[in-house]
Amino acid sequence: MMRLHFDTALCVRAASKFSNCTKCADATEGIVRIEEQLPVFAKGTGVEASACVGACPTEAFSLSDFSVTEFFFTFLESKVRLVSRKINVPCLSVLSVEHLISLALASDEPVVLDLNDYELGTHLYQVIAERIEEANFVLSTISDKALEVNTDISETKSNIPLESDEQEDLVPDRRQFLRNTASIKGVMKQKKAFDDAVEADEMHHFEIDASMTEKIRNKHLPDKRKILFTTLKHTKKPENYEVLAEEDISFVSQKFVEESCNNCQICYRICPTGALSSDAKFSLIHFDAMLCVKCRLCHDVCEPDAIKLQPGFETKEFFDQTQRTLAAFNVRRCDECGNYFTSLEGERTCPRCTIEEEEAMFLHENAKKMKGEES
Ligand code: SF4
Ligand code: SF4
Ligand code: SF4
Repeated sequence: MMRLHFDTALCVRAASKFSNCTKCADATEGIVRIEEQLPVFAKGTGVEASACVGACPTEAFSLSDFSVTEFFFTFLESKVRLVSRKINVPCLSVLSVEHLISLALASDEPVVLDLNDYELGTHLYQVIAERIEEANFVLSTISDKALEVNTDISETKSNIPLESDEQEDLVPDRRQFLRNTASIKGVMKQKKAFDDAVEADEMHHFEIDASMTEKIRNKHLPDKRKILFTTLKHTKKPENYEVLAEEDISFVSQKFVEESCNNCQICYRICPTGALSSDAKFSLIHFDAMLCVKCRLCHDVCEPDAIKLQPGFETKEFFDQTQRTLAAFNVRRCDECGNYFTSLEGERTCPRCTIEEEEAMFLHENAKKMKGEES
């Protein structure tokens, strides 16, 4: 039986109590819930919650016995161009918007999504339809490809090839496609080993122990983003680039930093993918839009609310990945301890030494006062 797996170390809620991410719960209409900061779900939950697999920005959820990454490559290798829960996926909702875009771009023939046995008007139908709509919208701005939706059962049958058709020699294409994704299989193995170690009980409740802390700190780019990168590399650049409204694109973003930023370092230290980063002295905030999975953790942890979403996303980013510097700070060595700190207004000692100095002064003044009273 297919079971739902959750990798706590990949969930942004494990990284910070300030995370407000609810994408898994929203996609599954309560099958997955957020309790005590982390997602929970009933023992034995399986394919009925697969919408959270496609929804999670960091791929914290997966299904046993089905790897979306492996499906992607197997699908392209075969001659089938129909994605259907009758033949090759447990549910269309395991596919994220990025997977859908990548499938359409990587396939020479149009990819057809079989929505036949999903009930119109249900939450699941809505979730899948919205992802297809977003994928087609993005595809329309960067290519002439589009996903098709099948609503006729007779078409479903005609899209399933006879066995003898299946083995046509598509291997060279696949080799070329896989050239830049050689590390994906290793990542999948490690992920499965960790998932299998998660103990089952009545409700799956997850805790963060010391061994997990290191895993949470690791920067991890989801497989679906590696697939999208590779697919885009093999896609012809459009003649013109467009700017998409921020609210029309759910899986990537562009950002800017306002002056209220005090370089507390939290956002770039906590960003799960490394989209936000800094230099060795922590004097800069760099941002790489194509590494961003729009998990919003950086926004949730920023106390002065200084990091903001750009109102538009430039599609040029898909083809010419750039790292931008969002902020630069005057970083200097503290006169007292010698450590680097951000000198916002020309201060010469770091905040910690400044506090210690103030405390020492206070104690000294008090001691003087007491001495005066005694004499
Ligand atoms: S990161 Fe994934 S698992 Fe964690 S709350 Fe968000 S959607 Fe759910
Ligand atoms: S943007 Fe916010 S979280 Fe990031 S360094 Fe500046 S103040 Fe800190
Ligand atoms: S930049 Fe912010 S929204 Fe993007 S992946 Fe990093 S933490 Fe998430």
